[in-house]
Amino acid sequence: MRVTFLGTGTSHGIPMIGCDCAVCRSDNPRNQRLRPSVYIENGSQCLLVDATPDFRAQALRANIRQVDAVLITHTHADHVLGLDDLRVFCQRTGRKLPIHGSPHSIETIQQMFAYACTETPAWPGLPSFELHTLQPDQQCEVAGTAFRVLPLLHGRMTVYGFLFGRDLAYVTDCNVVSADVVESIRGVTVLVLDALRHRPHPTHLTIDQARDVAGQVGAKLTLFTHLCHEAEHEAVEKELPPQVRVAYDGMQIEVANGEVRQLA
Ligand SMILES: [Zn+2]
Ligand SMILES: [Zn+2]
Ligand SMILES: [Zn+2]
Repeated sequence: MRVTFLGTGTSHGIPMIGCDCAVCRSDNPRNQRLRPSVYIENGSQCLLVDATPDFRAQALRANIRQVDAVLITHTHADHVLGLDDLRVFCQRTGRKLPIHGSPHSIETIQQMFAYACTETPAWPGLPSFELHTLQPDQQCEVAGTAFRVLPLLHGRMTVYGFLFGRDLAYVTDCNVVSADVVESIRGVTVLVLDALRHRPHPTHLTIDQARDVAGQVGAKLTLFTHLCHEAEHEAVEKELPPQVRVAYDGMQIEVANGEVRQLA
């Protein structure tokens, strides 16, 4: 499978509006992060994990032409406010777009995007979603891609991570990764992991906590995501061991048979 990082920043994005800190003013493109999402191409099928408020810009930048289904980690604004922009794929295929998430996520999407969750769209230009609920630890197949649902703690909220075979675990927006989840993803080829900043946060892993989880999981390659403007890309990379790196917007990797190859 091919994985493209559409965004690797926290909810504000980097630069943050009105901030003059060194990271927000940095001209290193790796310090410019849109909201967090990945695009997964597996054979002829394409999955989007979360649809951020930056989805339009992300899709244009990555030249996205196809989305067969969307997996939702949770419904915080930085993960779902781009769902309306997916209407172009409904128009192109003439079909409802399948959206998969927890019962709570699906209920929230029904409230936020009621106009897209009707039996038939009130107007042909509107997005139209086909909603599917996923249960924690469920083994599923969506758009030809098998994965397991990983329950994660994000403060008091349970959010979902996704484990795609032994190739990829996508684990963002969490401050705790349970022993059960560590066990089920141990030895995965690529682990994408929440790592917000150095200072503690009630709902996200710090960089040190993420290093600790990465050590327990022992992925061939761990990539940190969901960074905020307190984390300067090059400075964080320097403190990490070689098998742990910081993802950046536009990064693209190919994962197959226990091997990972960086494409961009
Ligand atoms: Zn988030
Ligand atoms: Zn800043
Ligand atoms: Zn969140």
